[in-house]
Amino acid sequence: MPKVYLRTFGCQMNERDSEQVAQMFVERGFTVTPQADDADVVLLNTCSVRDQAEQKAIGNMNHLGKFRRRNPRMVFGMMGCMAQSRGAQLLEEAPHLDLVAGTQKYHRVVDHCVEIMRAKEEAEMDDLRRPIIDVGEEEGSQNTIRDHVDKDYGVSEFVSIMQGCNMKCTFCIVPHTRGPERARPIAEIVDECRHLADRGVREVTLLGQIVNLYGRHEFPKVDGKSPFVQLLEAVHEIEGIRRIRFTSPHPIGYKEDVVAAFTYLPKLVDHVHFPMQSGSDRVLKRMHRPYKAARFLEICERMREARPGIAISTDIIVGFPGETDEDYLETKKAVEAVQFDQAFVFRYSPRKDTPAAEMEDQVPERVKEERNQDLLALVDSIVERKNHAQVGTVQEVLCEGPSRYNKARLSGRTRTNRIVVFDGDPGRLAGELLDIRIVESSGHTLYGDPVLHPAPDALVGA
Ligand code: SF4
Repeated sequence: MPKVYLRTFGCQMNERDSEQVAQMFVERGFTVTPQADDADVVLLNTCSVRDQAEQKAIGNMNHLGKFRRRNPRMVFGMMGCMAQSRGAQLLEEAPHLDLVAGTQKYHRVVDHCVEIMRAKEEAEMDDLRRPIIDVGEEEGSQNTIRDHVDKDYGVSEFVSIMQGCNMKCTFCIVPHTRGPERARPIAEIVDECRHLADRGVREVTLLGQIVNLYGRHEFPKVDGKSPFVQLLEAVHEIEGIRRIRFTSPHPIGYKEDVVAAFTYLPKLVDHVHFPMQSGSDRVLKRMHRPYKAARFLEICERMREARPGIAISTDIIVGFPGETDEDYLETKKAVEAVQFDQAFVFRYSPRKDTPAAEMEDQVPERVKEERNQDLLALVDSIVERKNHAQVGTVQEVLCEGPSRYNKARLSGRTRTNRIVVFDGDPGRLAGELLDIRIVESSGHTLYGDPVLHPAPDALVGA
């Protein structure tokens, strides 16, 4: 049985796409191996969010290329955002590549690899000594990301609802690598979620670059509700699905119907990831983010009215070209005002083919690092205080199985997306919604004990 090795760099979208490719290989009789030197096909799913991510993947591919000496028929391929943006140019960086497949070609990867393997077996590769470069756009490619690999304790799954982004944030490469927005039909997404529920999945995370603008170009509003809210309501109806999450939304997509959905869809968890990027209107304008900081804060307030206790996490870039000390202080003020439950802080990193990379007054690395450390200190102090405040409370936790860092214990997340570690039997508890009394916080992780509820018949006469 042929083997495929697949490594993923980058975001949840890449993870989800890699899983689709892995499942397609499995359906073609391959096994997925964690050992690259043991594989017949070696694939990297690449990321272009920062130059560092690109260099890492190229370095890794050149390291893996050495295995060809042991197995001359090994097939080497790169897919994903860097493959999309660089195409054939990647052959200069990794001359042993046989395949370069773009972000709208995941569903063609297995065919390409099988064709290359056959050519190598028939020793026709030398005649065919021209790698396959497939980075074009393909109608309907967004509908091909729908299958899942069988997993132990597959309790929570990502469901891709759209691909691409039409926004033009000046620091972002995604519109260039993922193309225009293309949404999957609601019915197909619901089918996928129902199928997952039948397999014991209890939580789905709806995935897209700007999920709350899902379907805005393809599907009509119904009763004043956006296609995204129609989708949330449809997934909410699925028995077996106990929790719904979504990522990544955009501030301009937080219309009244989306906020209102948090008042009548209880399966929607008490957490939203809500990228602010900057608290300075001047910087937001240079980023081409079409909202003001005040509007962002107002939406956070609206969310907290609609769902009291909701946790809000965010992404922030410091050191964006032209960001002054005053601008940075605006960002810091916004963080203090919102008191985020979690915030991912990034130092601005210029990306080739993005407008911001060409901007004058790039901020010196030293200043970026100072602001990065200063903001991280503020964010961490808020996160730790909020996590410590969880001690003594009872939280509903979806048990996801053995903890990633301590296999002897279990872990899961609260409705507010906090990780909780506790004891128990994975076979019995994975997929269950449990009440856990929080007894300790390490600042970023909570520890707790399951609350034992007496069996109903034990209550008779109680
Ligand atoms: S909305 Fe997100 S994915 Fe789209 S361009 Fe902006 S940062 Fe990139």
